[in-house]
Order: sequence, then structure tokens, then C-alpha cells
Amino acid sequence: MTANERPISQTRAFFSPIGRLRMLAGDPALDFANTLHWREGVEVDFLPDYRALNDWSVPARLLREDERCILVDIARVHPQDAHAAHRAAIALRNAWRQNLAQRIGSWSLYSPESKQAAPLAPLLTSALGDPRLLISPTAGASEKEPHVLFLPVARVALAIASLELIPGDRKLGRCEGDPCGGFFLNNSRSKPRRWCSMDSCGNRAKVRGFRSRFVAGEVKDRDR
Ligand SMILES: [Zn+2]
Repeated sequence: MTANERPISQTRAFFSPIGRLRMLAGDPALDFANTLHWREGVEVDFLPDYRALNDWSVPARLLREDERCILVDIARVHPQDAHAAHRAAIALRNAWRQNLAQRIGSWSLYSPESKQAAPLAPLLTSALGDPRLLISPTAGASEKEPHVLFLPVARVALAIASLELIPGDRKLGRCEGDPCGGFFLNNSRSKPRRWCSMDSCGNRAKVRGFRSRFVAGEVKDRDR
């Protein structure tokens, strides 16, 4: 069963003050790219601050709930560091999205020599430079340093690096919904995936197609 066919109730989602964002991409690195999205013709950012990044990371399966709670506590004490971690995440997302937009339909492995739309390598290196990719559920005072606030950024970088560096038989797709452009893994050989979800963008496109054929007089009475 593909993400397109999966019932809505089974799809993981991030519930934010601006609405629900489902994890439809088939990979957390691509779900991260899709946190900048469209709603009713307007571009919206589902990660406007550190709190949102932290909250989103749980349904994205990049953070555990107990880790999120620890980070909420540390962010409360060190808001400037939380802000810096959020800025780092957004810089990574911008570079990641620009790189993705260049290679729809293919998945070329990252190479330092390859021409990149935006410099991704230094951002990944920086985010993964700290070996502390884990917090113990019983984190002591020494583990609650402000630098731990970069944990969600490191986990996202890890997900991106996994797609970029580990060879696999996969293709990148982009939703044809206008405007949507959500990224996803396009794994189906028999029936290439065209939409981020059939019940939203796919449905809208069907209705639009039916309307335009109707106007053009191509739809017969029996089709109505
Ligand atoms: Zn879409």
C-alpha cells in the first residue's frame, strides 16, 4: 500500500496552530523539505520557531517524545540557543529544497564535485559534527547544556545524509498539484506517483480535469 492509498487515519501528522501537516513523503528528510508548504494558494511555514521544529520532529520520527520534553525544558532556559538551532534548521531546509528541486525523477548521490544549487555539504557536516546524537531519557545536568538544543537539526541532517550518501534504488518525485510541489519518494514502477496524496491534490486535479473536459464538450452525458 502506498502513502497515496493509505487511509487518512493511518498517516502520521503534525498538528500545528496553522493546521495539519501529514507525513506523506515516505522519508523524514523529504517530510522536512515539505514543512514549507502551500495552503489555499499561500506559502506557509510549518516550522516558524524552535518549538514547532521540536514538536514536528516527533511525528516525523526524528525525536522521541521524552527527548522532545527534555528539549522544551532546556529551550525555556536558553531561548537564544533555541533560536540559533531553529535558524540552522531553516538554513539546512532552504539548501535541501533547492537541491531537491533540481533532480526530480532521479536520485544522484551526493558528490563534493557535483554542482549544487545551494551548498548542502557544509551544513550537513556542521550539523553532524557533534557526536552527541542521543539524549538519555534520564539525562543528567551535564547533558542539559544548551548545545543539546541542536539535536533536532542533527537528526534531520542524519536523515538527509542517509538519502544523499547511502546508495538505494529510489527516485524523487514532486506533487503535480498546483500550487503544491510536495516532495516524495517515487518508488512505484508500475504506476508512478503523481500526487502527495490522492485525497487532496490528486482529487483536486481530477475535479479540475473533469471541469475542463466538460467545458470543452468532451464529457458525454453518461460520464456525468
Ligand atoms: Zn500535493
